[in-house]
Amino acid sequence: MHRSELNIDLAALRRNARTLLHALAGSELWAVVKANGYGHGASDVAGAALGAGATGLCVATVPEGLELRREFSTTRIVVMGPAGSNREVGQARDAALELVVSSDEIPPGVRVHVKLDTGMGRWGLSELRAPPFEVVGLMSHLATADTDAAYAEWQIERFRNATAAYTHLTRHIAHSAAALRYPSSRFDAARCGIALYGLSPFGTDPGEDGLEPVLSWTSYLAQCRLLRTGESTGYGRRFIAERDTWIGLVPVGYADGFRRDLTGTQVRVAGELRPVVGTISMDAFAVELDRELPIGTPVVLIGRGMLAEDHARIADTITYELVCGISSDPARARRVVVDG
Ligand SMILES: *Cc1c(COP(=O)(O)O)cnc(C)c1O
Repeated sequence: MHRSELNIDLAALRRNARTLLHALAGSELWAVVKANGYGHGASDVAGAALGAGATGLCVATVPEGLELRREFSTTRIVVMGPAGSNREVGQARDAALELVVSSDEIPPGVRVHVKLDTGMGRWGLSELRAPPFEVVGLMSHLATADTDAAYAEWQIERFRNATAAYTHLTRHIAHSAAALRYPSSRFDAARCGIALYGLSPFGTDPGEDGLEPVLSWTSYLAQCRLLRTGESTGYGRRFIAERDTWIGLVPVGYADGFRRDLTGTQVRVAGELRPVVGTISMDAFAVELDRELPIGTPVVLIGRGMLAEDHARIADTITYELVCGISSDPARARRVVVDG
């Protein structure tokens, strides 16, 4: 038996893409598949998103773009992060990747999107001068669409004003949260990641926005044992049994991406919610049970009723970071892609 199984449901991804396309009401959907498709597998999710109507792919680095180019020979691929070197600029040119630039220096012969800083305070020009002809797009990025609507609307208006003279270029500012909640952010295209994966950009139940989680992560009880009163489990004795307590051991730990700060979250053991107790180890964690259960009993870590958003809240992070951190190394987890 594998220590754990990652299941990627491409039919759910396609339904999420259609939900986004519906919200975008005519603007293009570009699928953001950086960081190996947020841990879901870039090539699988790119194919499914394009099949459902997405018209472009966005990645963070030139190597990520080159990898996808081998499989998607004619699709628009936008590299959103800075090229690492002149060599990478040359590779992008040869592979017809589009680059994002945040300065007045436009590398020759490459299609580029100029990035404006409208309030993120990260990459981007603070002022737009007349873009040279290699420029195909103008873009910006929102800082607060999930937390501060007024600031997001202000950024969108700044972008609209700064780019008003260049409506012949492809203008794009929306990410998932904006695509779902801010009609004013649509322009020509939206760069959507998290919502495609069926995770909420707002940290709430994704069902509220019509989204379905694409990834599920399951394991099993590899051992079940009785802790006597006063006995403990795991490093640092963080859990000490106050009464005789059954615990189950799950062969997944922080090296698999089940983070150390998930102590106190819940997982589903034989369908029932059970608390994760004690310190999470590199390769295992413990759950508190209410009875002895057989070895091999299924444990659902994420998906199938276990929201990644609930784990994120416990770990004081966002689902983006949780799913990017799940290891799909075949030595640790079996990855299964289902379609239909
Ligand atoms: C990652 C990223 C996105 C996608 O954001 P989501 O919230 O996952 O939709 C869009 N634009 C840029 C510039 C990004 O870096």
